[in-house]
Amino acid sequence: MSIYADVKKGPAIEVFALTQAFKDDSNPNKVNLSVGAYRTNEGQPWVLPVVRNTEKNIASDENINHEYLPVTGLDTFTSAATQLVLGADSIALKEKRAFGVQTISGTGALRVAAEFLYQQLKRNDVYYSNPTWENHHKIFADTGFTKLHSYRYWDQNKRQLDLKGMLADLDQAVPGSVIILHACAHNPTGSDPTQEQWKEIADLMERKKLFPLFDSAYQGFASGDPDRDAWAVRYFVDRGFELFVCQSFAKNFGLYCERAGNLTIVQKNGATRDAIHSQLTLIIRGSYSNPPAYGARIVSKVLNTPELRQEWMGCIQSMSSRIREMRQALRSKLVELGTPGTWDHIVNQIGMFSYTGLNEQQVRILIDKYHIYLLKTGRINMCGLNTGNIDYVAKAIHAAVT
Ligand code: PLP
Repeated sequence: MSIYADVKKGPAIEVFALTQAFKDDSNPNKVNLSVGAYRTNEGQPWVLPVVRNTEKNIASDENINHEYLPVTGLDTFTSAATQLVLGADSIALKEKRAFGVQTISGTGALRVAAEFLYQQLKRNDVYYSNPTWENHHKIFADTGFTKLHSYRYWDQNKRQLDLKGMLADLDQAVPGSVIILHACAHNPTGSDPTQEQWKEIADLMERKKLFPLFDSAYQGFASGDPDRDAWAVRYFVDRGFELFVCQSFAKNFGLYCERAGNLTIVQKNGATRDAIHSQLTLIIRGSYSNPPAYGARIVSKVLNTPELRQEWMGCIQSMSSRIREMRQALRSKLVELGTPGTWDHIVNQIGMFSYTGLNEQQVRILIDKYHIYLLKTGRINMCGLNTGNIDYVAKAIHAAVT
């Protein structure tokens, strides 16, 4: 009998299973609206031209070698990433009480953050929105957190943020609880708090002494403007919170598989920096020793070179505006078809995803009958839509709803 005989097969990861089913599907009309990756109007992945040129330059640079990076990564990358999220004129940066460490993309930033909060700050309560990116639960549970809670976020009837429910749930949290907040472009709902609502959230979190952990996977990708997308983070920093920001460069640089990420730490004062830095170093050392250089070199070069940075801004604007056009187009087509229900939420939501409000049965029809792949919660990746398939998708949604 094998020593592995009792290992049970775990559940499939929905988003990867759907992508596989999409690949295996031979129907010519098939559409993949599941995975969170940008697609061009031709339905293809997009290597940002500024990224392509930068990688060519890096590849031909004889001074670059493949030595290990330091455990906490490439300094020029972490400082640029930290500045991107906090802002060049951030008071925390000026007072030298913020720094970053490189991580294995956004997921790795969350995992390193969770390990630090659990081991060093002895936190055991974490709150994430209901719904949220499904990995939040897993990352914190795998780290050892045993008190995993969700807070209300989405009002399914009104198809908008349930601020009252959110505040009521956070009001029950014990002081010191870690509260995961989506910095912008909430995944999966595409609904962010307004600035006024963020102020109410901050008031409550300050009063209850809750710890903000911002998950920033879509900076710049959401509105096309990285400063605008970082408003909530900067507002909390300006109010004096100590906090973490977990940054991903998967979407806004199109560097999905290169795993470029950063964990930004904001402190009350810089005196705690060296101790925090050393503990993060030990956590990373024991997990994967040191991070990959490829993606970080590209991001660093682009963010630290004014002309390239400008070019990158153009790229994120073009991605976010194509998404906005698809939102308008899908809503108009559903309205034109007279599809029952209101569809304004599709244009009011922001970022890559739309939480359509379609139920599980309607999703099943879309997958089985129309070969349109989406999550069973009704979340669709707007980037999967294009001028070639939007009529087909709108008609299929109409048929599934009626
Ligand atoms: N956080 C959220 C909300 C996400 O949607 C994602 C990716 O889909 C991530 C974090 C992390 O992504 P990655 O590890 O690819 O950077």
